Amino acid sequence: MSDQVHKVVIIGSGPAGWTAAIYAARANLDPVVYVGVAKQSPSIQLPGGQLMLTTDVENYPGFPEGVSGPQMMQMFQKQAERFGTKTQPRDIVSVEFNQNGPHKLTTDKDETVLAHTVILATGATANWIGLDNEQRLARNGGGVSACAVCDGALPMFRDKPLAVVGGGDSAMEEATYLTKFASTVYIIHRRDELRASKVMQERFLSKPNAKVLWNKTVEDVLSAPDQHGHEVITAVQLKDTLTGELSELEVGGLFVAIGHTPATGFVKDSGLEFDDKGYVDLKGKSTATNIPGVFAAGDVADSEYRQAITAAGTGCQAALDAEHWLGDHDLI
Ligand code: NAP
Repeated sequence: MSDQVHKVVIIGSGPAGWTAAIYAARANLDPVVYVGVAKQSPSIQLPGGQLMLTTDVENYPGFPEGVSGPQMMQMFQKQAERFGTKTQPRDIVSVEFNQNGPHKLTTDKDETVLAHTVILATGATANWIGLDNEQRLARNGGGVSACAVCDGALPMFRDKPLAVVGGGDSAMEEATYLTKFASTVYIIHRRDELRASKVMQERFLSKPNAKVLWNKTVEDVLSAPDQHGHEVITAVQLKDTLTGELSELEVGGLFVAIGHTPATGFVKDSGLEFDDKGYVDLKGKSTATNIPGVFAAGDVADSEYRQAITAAGTGCQAALDAEHWLGDHDLI
């Protein structure tokens, strides 16, 4: 174990983590980023957060032509490293937060890392149905996504019938957004009653191209090569939960909106406080948690907005909060 106590250790390598690193590095705090190997889906395990699963990002300001999610994360990393950020290709698997610091972190290689401040930026992962073809097409930009706001406006989805799985507020929000581009938007829900709030339901159901398919689950995702030879979704196979009957629904896109899970497993028993949805609870307007010197940024503390730009914004806040905290404790 090294005795070195880092001023700032950042856990997570999505927009929140890298933005925190850029700010911390430029403030001469010598940040170290543990990039993690977050499990993005049943078959995808890679650092970089949910953007690694996003093909074109068109809503991040400053990229008028759009940018691919992985490319954007590489650019964030390069920018952070340019100012001296150290990148560690490791996962933090457990933590021991000490009220009086320093905090002790353990990597997947059983190394111990000490830090005066820790910024949690491990994000959240979209829940997936768990089908092989769903995963393959999501990974290859084949028309399966877990974020309509990120991907729904892409040309490949224009004027096509699209399906959204889920019956909660996210599903309604995503489906309502898609009605602007799609010929028809089908909500596929496993029950005969939506979980979403009435106002969100009505917002979707009031659209002329909105339809709900009740008591249906998606059993498979069917695909074929498009005119460029790229494998894209053509239909979903549905199962009626009451009769067991199988059917096919032709669609040009599938959006999975069955909730998110914040990546907090490794801090569950650390004394950190969570909100009633399991996200890290923040104090007031800051990124401070209930533990002195521990901050959280991005989707791990945000069940509401979950956008790259909002994650980056809170990453910046967390670095500034950490810098102030270090200053207040005479550690810089
Ligand atoms: P959620 O409320 O947990 O809803 C998840 C939905 O997915 C439920 O309808 C659930 O079905 C369905 N589901 C779960 N697992 C499934 C599976 N394996 N196969 C098929 N369907 C499955 O999650 P959410 O919609 O992401 O919302 C999360 C929180 O954020 C909520 O508190 C919500 O109010 C909030 N939110 C608010 C807004 C807004 O107000 N603008 C927008 C988005 C989210 P069952 O209903 O049968 O359980």
